[in-house]
Amino acid sequence: MEHHDVVIIGGGPAGLTLACELRERGRKDVVVLEREAQAGGIPRHCGHGGFGLYNSWRTHKGPTFAKLLREPAREIDLRTATTVLNFTMSGNLRLHSAKGIQEMSAGTLVLATGTREASRAARLIGGNKLPGVMNTGELQQRVYLNHEKPFSRPVIIGSEWVSFSSLLTCRHAGMRVQAMITEEASLDAPGIFGLGARLVFGAPVLRKAKLRAILGHKKVEAVEVEQGGTTKQIACDGVIISGKFRSESALYADGFIEREGWAPKVTEQFKTSRPNVLAVGNVLGHLERAGTCMLQARELAKVMTA
Ligand SMILES: Cc1cc2nc3c(=O)[nH]c(=O)nc-3n(C[C@H](O)[C@H](O)[C@H](O)COP(=O)(O)OP(=O)(O)OC[C@H]3O[C@@H](n4cnc5c(N)ncnc54)[C@H](O)[C@@H]3O)c2cc1C
Repeated sequence: MEHHDVVIIGGGPAGLTLACELRERGRKDVVVLEREAQAGGIPRHCGHGGFGLYNSWRTHKGPTFAKLLREPAREIDLRTATTVLNFTMSGNLRLHSAKGIQEMSAGTLVLATGTREASRAARLIGGNKLPGVMNTGELQQRVYLNHEKPFSRPVIIGSEWVSFSSLLTCRHAGMRVQAMITEEASLDAPGIFGLGARLVFGAPVLRKAKLRAILGHKKVEAVEVEQGGTTKQIACDGVIISGKFRSESALYADGFIEREGWAPKVTEQFKTSRPNVLAVGNVLGHLERAGTCMLQARELAKVMTA
């Protein structure tokens, strides 16, 4: 069985930064496993600006930022199109790649698998199961990576930063957002965004409003929204369910490590409950900025090489 000194699961900003820092600090046997065909994590499909390196004031569009992350990572053993499926009882990894299913063992294992938006089911949204309902991540992959336009008049559920990222993506693709719908009384992102949504993008923000059901036969035709004790329908042809991020926990849902909510429980030094398993970046449960995840990774590299 293949064995490595350090195996990092996830080639996003946190995983790539950690691998590069470890290499600079003399740890040579480091492997990064990334399920996508290209490393870079979420920024790969965020076509808007706002991504900054922790050590500079410049900001970049997501794909440019992801490219900047990949450049120094050329020196490391990065295996793309490689998905870690689960862990064996003895703590080894089972992974899938073009070579098929393999097992790998690691002296130290680092979880850098990021976070994901809560699904429709997790949010208890009723109605038919129809195409045209997706989260921001899928929307951005389809628009920026596949150059698709999955719908033209969607509604956006949520009012977090990422919901406004969806709004920008819709504008990029020439879609007209019918409404932004949030259960909160005030926006999770700064209020100026709500004003911008209405004035710049023509999308009204419905506060204290709950999406009850997605309606339609073969495709989305409307959403049913409850607000202030009354229920109304908003015509639309797509629904973007954004935000409410939770740690990407699929790998350790079976009790492999202790959790706090969805995220791995860690000490200040990024240690999980299992010896030799560490965690860094957004997998820790909060949607941080990319630069913050990279700073965490640098910190972890120091801890690992102290
Ligand atoms: C829509 C959106 C817009 C954003 N805009 C900004 C912005 O403007 N500026 C900013 O600074 N930050 C922004 N962020 C936040 C930023 O993208 C994250 O902070 C950063 O990507 C987190 O890095 P990470 O490495 O922890 O996780 P991720 O970037 O999520 O990377 C995790 C990687 O792990 C891989 N992975 C997961 N599970 C497995 C597995 N089982 N096997 C193998 N690989 C696996 C994934 O494919 C992924 O590549 C945005 C986030 C979103 C969602």
